[in-house]
Amino acid sequence: MKLSKTNIVLIVVLSVIVVAGVAVAVIMLCGRTEDNREEVAVPEPVVEMRFGFPVDQWTITDDTVRQGDYLGTILNRYGVPMSQVDKIARISDSVDYTRIAVGRPYSVFSSPDDTARVAKIFVYENSPLMFTVFDFRDSVDVFRKYHDVDTVVCTASGRISSSLWNVLDSKGYDWDLAVGMSQVWAWTVDFYALQKDDWFKVIFEEYRVDGETVRIGKVLAGVFSHNGKERWAIPFVNDSVVEFFDTCGQSIRKTFMKAPLKFTRISSRYTNSRMHPIHHVPKAHLAVDFSAPTGTPVYAASDGRITIRQYGNGAGNYVKIRHNSIYETVYMHLSKFGKYNVGDYVHQGDVIGYVGSTGWSTGPHLHYEVHENGKKINPLNFDPPTAEPVDSANMERFDREKRPWIEKIDKIVVE
Ligand SMILES: [Zn+2]
Repeated sequence: MKLSKTNIVLIVVLSVIVVAGVAVAVIMLCGRTEDNREEVAVPEPVVEMRFGFPVDQWTITDDTVRQGDYLGTILNRYGVPMSQVDKIARISDSVDYTRIAVGRPYSVFSSPDDTARVAKIFVYENSPLMFTVFDFRDSVDVFRKYHDVDTVVCTASGRISSSLWNVLDSKGYDWDLAVGMSQVWAWTVDFYALQKDDWFKVIFEEYRVDGETVRIGKVLAGVFSHNGKERWAIPFVNDSVVEFFDTCGQSIRKTFMKAPLKFTRISSRYTNSRMHPIHHVPKAHLAVDFSAPTGTPVYAASDGRITIRQYGNGAGNYVKIRHNSIYETVYMHLSKFGKYNVGDYVHQGDVIGYVGSTGWSTGPHLHYEVHENGKKINPLNFDPPTAEPVDSANMERFDREKRPWIEKIDKIVVE
């Protein structure tokens, strides 16, 4: 998306240059054809505005919502009668304008000559981006507006001491940047096992209102050195959406195997209620059972780290793999484990165990779960986006477009 934005910026800049050129030409022509009378441009006085109202015409009182405050009590404090407050509640149909949150700022606009500071206009700031205007000058008018937001491209870098968050926090960055980075590098960097000398450089967007950062936007590109290997993230529109690739055009995401074993049939699907085969009580089955002969190899569905490998009462021998900050998979009733232990990093297709019937099981099968943010989802409906490399037809464009990103990232000094 950034690339198209860059293009738009380029077009805008070019248009401005063209328009400016034409304007200069027109001014020069006018200067020649008309007499020598000089046009003296009177600079417009800059009127400072807040929430769209000229500051010099009002007395403005700023405060924040306190514990126990309601919109009505605040407005009453500033001389707005209850009848007016009632009108606000009636105006609120799809949006409840009366809802305010403790700690959010508000501003009261009153007439400069009014010592009682009765609110003529009341502005409640819903978020750093949005505010609600209550205008009492003529009956009651309520509307919401967004601040003008500037999108600024920023860079950050750091060397890992303990965690990504500690590095970013010590430099004053927002938590959202850590979240954005952990999503971009979810598959190539193990954020649960960052090493002391890992480092990163990242280009990202910041949203600013009046020069102040109000929110972190998208992570645009970067490089994360993890375990001594540089993992690049270059954005590229491959198939109508922006995806991240390494410098060779390989996707930096991984996919999941549709089924973590071969030669199998599904013996039980994902359902919210079914009769338990042993206990004969209705029980949700938030997994898929693959029926297969004892000893059939069970594969890691995708790259990840083994977090559990033990015997559980119902589960029998089971393995849990954490793939990234979002996904985990669980494999139950194994006859025996593979050679990997807890803490080992496995790749997609590595044998982590063998089909069996340990625990509560009526016959050899694999009970397979996929957890998304801790919630068991249907493994058969689970459809993570594919991770195709840059299409060969697009390779030339990719090589061209990746260069400015690499140059920009190279210029960032890791501090
Ligand atoms: Zn099962």
